[in-house]
Parts: sequence; C-alpha cells; structure tokens
Amino acid sequence: MADILKTPLGYLKKIGPQRSKLLAGELGLEDFGDLAGYLPFRYIDRTKILKISELSAECRQYVQIKATVLTKGFVGRRLQATVSDGTGTVSLVWFNYPSWFPSSLNVGTEYVIFGRPDMDFQTPSIAHPDMETSVKYMAEVFKLCMQGVYSITEKLSRHYITSKTIYSYQKELWKTIRGHIPETLPSYLIDHLSLMGREEALFNAHFPSDPLVLEKAVYRLKFEELLAIQIAMTRYRTIRHETSSGYIFKRVGEKFNAMYTSLPFGLTDAQKRVVKEIRADMCSSHQMNRLLQGDVGSGKTVVAVLTAMIAADNGYQTAIMVPTEILARQHYATISGMCAPAGVNVALLTGSVGNKDRREIDSGLMSGRIDILVGTHALIEDNVQFRNLGYVVIDEQHRFGVEQRGKIWHKGFSTPHVLVMTATPIPRTLAMTIYGDLDVSVIDSKPVGRKPIITRWCRERDRNSVYYFIKREIAAGHQIYVVFPLIKESEKLDYKNLEVGVQALETFFPHPHYSNVVVHGQMEQRLKDYGMQQFKDGKAQILVSTTVIEVGVDVPNATVILIESAERFGLSQLHQLRGRVGRSDLQSHCILMTSDNVSSETGERMKAMERTNDGFELSELDLKLRGAGDLEGTRQSGQLIDFKIANPVKDTEILQVASREAENILAADPTLSHPDNKLLKEMSERTHPAVSEFDLGTIS
Ligand code: ADP
Ligand code: MG
Repeated sequence: MADILKTPLGYLKKIGPQRSKLLAGELGLEDFGDLAGYLPFRYIDRTKILKISELSAECRQYVQIKATVLTKGFVGRRLQATVSDGTGTVSLVWFNYPSWFPSSLNVGTEYVIFGRPDMDFQTPSIAHPDMETSVKYMAEVFKLCMQGVYSITEKLSRHYITSKTIYSYQKELWKTIRGHIPETLPSYLIDHLSLMGREEALFNAHFPSDPLVLEKAVYRLKFEELLAIQIAMTRYRTIRHETSSGYIFKRVGEKFNAMYTSLPFGLTDAQKRVVKEIRADMCSSHQMNRLLQGDVGSGKTVVAVLTAMIAADNGYQTAIMVPTEILARQHYATISGMCAPAGVNVALLTGSVGNKDRREIDSGLMSGRIDILVGTHALIEDNVQFRNLGYVVIDEQHRFGVEQRGKIWHKGFSTPHVLVMTATPIPRTLAMTIYGDLDVSVIDSKPVGRKPIITRWCRERDRNSVYYFIKREIAAGHQIYVVFPLIKESEKLDYKNLEVGVQALETFFPHPHYSNVVVHGQMEQRLKDYGMQQFKDGKAQILVSTTVIEVGVDVPNATVILIESAERFGLSQLHQLRGRVGRSDLQSHCILMTSDNVSSETGERMKAMERTNDGFELSELDLKLRGAGDLEGTRQSGQLIDFKIANPVKDTEILQVASREAENILAADPTLSHPDNKLLKEMSERTHPAVSEFDLGTIS
C-alpha cells in the first residue's frame, strides 16, 4: 500500500492545486503527513461565551460572544456589521472577504462570534471575526471544548486561509489518515514512560477532548522531538571523539610552570579541575570542543591563559577572541602581564590596528614569534594567517554565533582545540541542546575570600543618601561604576539621559576633588580607551558609562556599581553588570536605582537581585518573568536547531527526561543497532541530518 501520508496536499478535498501551492510556499506543507504535523500554537476554550458588557480592556485575548446581527453595510469595499446581545453592541469589520460572504451574513440571525476585540473605541470592534450561526455552534463547535489556533501568514490571510480554514482542513484530513500514522518510538519506551501513542498524540493535539488529554498529547510530541535531538547530539559527539584527530599537547613544561608559580593567588579547586579537564582533552588525540561556564568573577581568564601555556609549551599558538574592543585591550594588558614571567609573547589585533602594526603582527604570526594573539572578531578574518594555531579561546560565547566558531576552525592546518567561555548560566542538558557538540566544564565556585556583593534597591527619593554612601567609599580609596541603560546605540534620548545624569553627578562630585570619566558607545575609540585606562590605573574615581562595561571588565578596586534606571534591564543583564564589582576581598555593593513608582514586576526583579547572588537562580526567574526569548545566550548563540514544538528553555523537565533516556539507550546500544531501537535510529537520522552535516563539514 502506498503511504497515504505522502499524498500531495492538493488531493485533499477543499484544498486543490492553487491553495496547495500557497500552503507549500508559506508554511512548507507539501503532503498529508506535513499537514498532520502542523500543530496549533495555542488553544481556546470554545465553551466559554462572554457577555458584551463583560468585555474589558484586559481582554486583548480571543473571546467568544453570542449576538444577533442588527445592521450590515459597506463603507467603500469595507464590510461592517453591528451585533448586540442585549448587554451591549459590538461592531464587526472585514477588509477582505470572499465574494459570497456578505450575502451569507443575515440580519436578525444569532451568531457565535469569535475574535480579538479592540477596546480603544467607544463601541468595541472586532476585525475579521470567525462567525458560526448559534445553531451550528451548538451542534458542532460546542462539543469541541478546546479549539486549536494555527499560525498563518499575512499572505495566506489575504487568500482567505485563516486558522479556522486550517482547522477545517485538519478535520477533512483526519477522516482519511486515521489508522495510518506510524509509531516512531519503540514500545519499551512508550510502556516505560506511559506515553501516548503517536497517532493518538497527534490527533489529540489537533482535536483535544479535554485539557488533560491535550497535556499528555503535547508531552509525548515534545518528548519525541527532544529525544531525537539528544540522541543525534550524543551520537554525533561520540563519533567526533572517535574520528576527529586533534593536536596532541603532551608536554606540560616550563612555560606552564613558570606562569603557575608566578600567579599572585592559588587556583580554586574548581579552576584546577577545569584546567585538568582541558589538559586531558589536549593530550587525548581528539580535538577539543569545550564549553566553559562560570559565573561572572569566577576566574575564567586565568584558566584560558594557563591552558594556552600548554599549547605554547608544545610549540603551538593560541588565539583568544573577545566580543568588544575594550575587552580585547583589557585582556591584552592582563594576559601580557601574566605571560611575562613565562617569556611568552602576546599581541593585540583589533579592527583599529594601523597598517604598520598590522604588518608586524602578520610577520610575528607567520614566524611564530607571537605565541598568543588577543583580539576581536578581526581575528577570524580570512587574511589573518598563523604559523601553527593550536588552540582557540572564545570568551563570552553568547556574542558569537556558531558560524563564527566554524570560521575559526579553518584557521589551523588541522583543527585547533576550541574553548568557548560564557558567564551565561545554562543547565547542562540545555547547553548541549543549544551548542550541540560541546563538552561542558563548569567553574562553580568563586575565589576564596570573596564577600558576597550587597545589593540594594533604591528609589529616586533615596538619591542623596546613595551619593553620600558613594562619597564614603571614594574616601576609603575605592572606585565606582555608574551605568546608564542604552536601548539602541543610536537613540539620542538615551544619551540625553546620560548627559543629564553626568551633570547631576558632577555637581555632587565636583572637580578637582573628584575625577570622573565618561565612556559610551558613540565615542571615538581613542577616547574610550583613554577613559578606561584612567579608571583602570586608579586615576579616575568614577566611571560613568553605558553598558559598554557589561562584559568582562576587571577593576578589582571598584567596590560600588550604581545602576541607573535599573527597571530597564533584565535580571541576567543586571547580574552581569553587578559582576563588575566583588572582584577582590573588599566588600562590594550594587545599587539599583529606579524611579519612585515602578510596576510590581519590576519590584519583584529588584527584590530578587537583593535576595540572591546566584546567576542560575536569577536566569531561571528571568525566564519566568520575561519568557524564553530573552535568555541571553540562547537566541543569539547561533542555535543549531529549529524546534517545532518543544521549547528547550521552558520544557526543561521534559528535556531532562529525554536526555536521561537518550543516555541510557545509547549506553546500552551505542550504534542503535538493536532491532528495538530501529525506530529511534531512523527518527534521529531523519530529523537531524543537518546537525552532523554542518559540523562534520566544518571540522574536516
Ligand atoms: P570571569 O570569570 O568573570 O572572566 P575573571 O577571569 O575576570 O573572571 O576573574 C575575576 C578576578 O578574579 C580577576 O581579577 C582575577 O585576577 C581574579 N581571580 C581569578 N582567579 C582567582 C583565584 N583563584 N583567587 C583569587 N583571585 C582570582
Ligand atoms: Mg571574563
């Protein structure tokens, strides 16, 4: 029997050739199977009917009302109707409609009307509502209980294909495909986890009979998606370990030891552990691809530099890539200082290096005179040539995409070892889902002697006492950051805020008693560098800046960070900013300044900051308060995988189960060759061929 799911959509009654072209073009739906897998993105309770008098500004959501048409007419081509249910009236508007529609709308008939009311007018209005006569509603729709809402595109709606149209296609489709949906998970897994079968799950995701059934259906589908990813990733990682060859850095010699013994502090246990993990990779004969997570201030830099010494001891060069020019300069200064005792040469390459210096760097890289090159993304430009690049460190990964990571893989003759460092706290399973092929190391403790940063939420009305507090800190010889938010680099208004703020500060902290520097994104590089240097050298007491200092800046003598308009920052970002202080054994403070009246959600965020210094806890809370899209480091990270139904950030529990199951299954049957696992093997190869192609392509 031919596979009914492969039937082109044009063959479905109601669709036909023209619409099937649209569906393919807009939604990528080609055949019956595709349509069956096109799931609602949310559901509405179709048993609930509101009175018009109950509509309020809050119901920007979809609602249902039951009302009789009083009038209908045209304004130009626009069709309008008024309806009433005795408690009020609503106007309905259609800008687009099929030609048969106006005459089918009957004055005097009662309809159940479904749509999103616009409450900005005196009479609420609904554009393009779905209409069902009450009679039909009672006979059909009411029984549904929950109806799926399908996402559609602008173009589809211009061709009268709405969510409701898709719904009707689904009804038609499922008349023919029931009993034909193959299972994709082995039965031992279905039994063991009491999962719903695939067909039941898909059917119920389209036509749920009640919320519990829906939940079970969605669970099953999300689980399947996440399991396929986990299996593909784990297998790929194993294959990479087995097949890719990396440079072997056997020697741990004088350079490593010289640096190690000259460090002004002893490493924390966590740092030691991570150095060992990296070293083990470096002499394992497979190429390292490792993600190093560690909260701000946990001391990732020294780990990177120490392990770069291993490369140097074995005669290989290291590239250290950071996201901003300021950070590149700072790292260059720190790293050259650390490297001096080991006799290792460090150079800096950024976009603003002049021609002459550039020529010198080029020849130093080719001759091998330069051991470590620190820089911005200028490092990965095609014209940068190394003699023998063996190790690449990428700091603050969330600013670089996978693509850029791919580019750097081409820099060596063979593939260099890669260490990606990030302060974004991502659960391990999630990291694997997002970064795919990376092994993960974690620095989970701060250097000893660090006092937890004291965070205080202050309002405008507390400003004076905040300034007095800052004065006392300066009198004690400490330095201060003041940060202003900047939504877009180009927003003039924000700079105005900054300017006004600077003026206010200067009346309180006047020259020549105090020395302030201002650094922001629109300044010339030269001036930025000069300002930062003044602050680093302790010549300026206050650094006023936009968020240019967000990533990585290290001035241990700074003990206070005052964050202005703190309500405009997300929790993760506030936490990053806070990490600029607390970098020595001095007691540090973070002051969050907001206006006097703020929303309760802002209050919650500020209180969370006061309560905890734990980046993990904050990022989880951030997720709850702001949704997944805002978790720094997930979106911009160059995500490898497009999720259809699961959300790897929100569905962490399912992800954990999937990850555990994947591990167990592969531990028992690494190549998935057992007959029971045939389905799993097919599934992961079908759903994620791209993962292996992408990465294998880049590595070889
Ligand atoms: P991050 O992980 O945020 O990049 P850094 O590497 O900038 O942190 O380190 C923060 C500060 O802590 C730096 O001043 C660094 O010199 C210092 N530091 C790092 N490791 C230790 C340690 N084991 N003991 C004491 N101070 C340390
Ligand atoms: Mg850092």
